[in-house]
Amino acid sequence: MKKIIAICNQKGGTGKTTTAINLSSYLAIAGKRVLLIDLDPQGNATSGLGIDKQKINNNIYHALVDNVKPEQVIYQTNIQNLYLIPSNVDLSGLEIELASQLGREFFLKNFLQLIDNHEITLIDCPPSLGLLTVNALCAANSVLIPVQCEFYALEGITQLLKTFELVKKNLNPGLEVEGVLLTMADYRTNLAREVIDEIRSYFKDKVYKSIIPRNVRLTEAPSFGKPIVVYDPNSIGAKKYQELAQEILGEELNSNIKPSQEQIAATEDVTIENKYEDCNR
Ligand code: ADP
Ligand code: MG
Repeated sequence: MKKIIAICNQKGGTGKTTTAINLSSYLAIAGKRVLLIDLDPQGNATSGLGIDKQKINNNIYHALVDNVKPEQVIYQTNIQNLYLIPSNVDLSGLEIELASQLGREFFLKNFLQLIDNHEITLIDCPPSLGLLTVNALCAANSVLIPVQCEFYALEGITQLLKTFELVKKNLNPGLEVEGVLLTMADYRTNLAREVIDEIRSYFKDKVYKSIIPRNVRLTEAPSFGKPIVVYDPNSIGAKKYQELAQEILGEELNSNIKPSQEQIAATEDVTIENKYEDCNR
């Protein structure tokens, strides 16, 4: 399987970045060679993986605009097999810079064509449907939509699906919906169950069986720069992201993917240099 998946929802706070970080780490632990692209100027996926946004020389902005080579922007993370193209606030002016350029929708796609040593690439999109997200939709094979289990969940999605259809029709005919992920479910409320039913009746079998519950450990982990598999692998949030990775890989839901010490060993006392060792060195 070789796949590029854009994690997309123009609404902020639906769990895009949390999903990007934790799904990519579990896919890597399952043995896939995974590349995570942080395409949000806020750089939350970058800092959530323990990489200091201010200290890196090259990021996705340089890859898209300055023709910097892939090996100069791909960083090894603390998880074996997981690589990151980081982002920071440099990216915030990019939409305006690209707006007047020919082929502006395809900058990311063109860049990704230079890279072929990853089985799964995940793109953490910003909370908008601007040119950055359109670049992600043009580069991707499919879209994963995290939806927060709350009352107006479906409202914003209509807009997203419109953009999806437009891109599919005009720019990327092969684009599919990978799946819809219900996030931050709070089972103590009836509302969560109603929202889950509503989204299931709308998206049918596109909705993942794995539902991510509200879990405080998932909120805490990024402030330590750690994915949940390192921060608290026994938490319910960890178990559910692990389940999601298995569902996407088409594996048995109950067979646990357990990280070996080696796979996450570099996590504790890693030096900045080791941490930023690039993938082709
Ligand atoms: P987005 O990238 O869509 O803006 P985030 O993944 O950054 O969303 O999530 C928004 C906030 O909600 C963050 O503070 C994050 O830590 C928290 N969060 C995300 N998923 C969960 C969850 N399942 N349980 C508890 N908090 C969560
Ligand atoms: Mg985000």
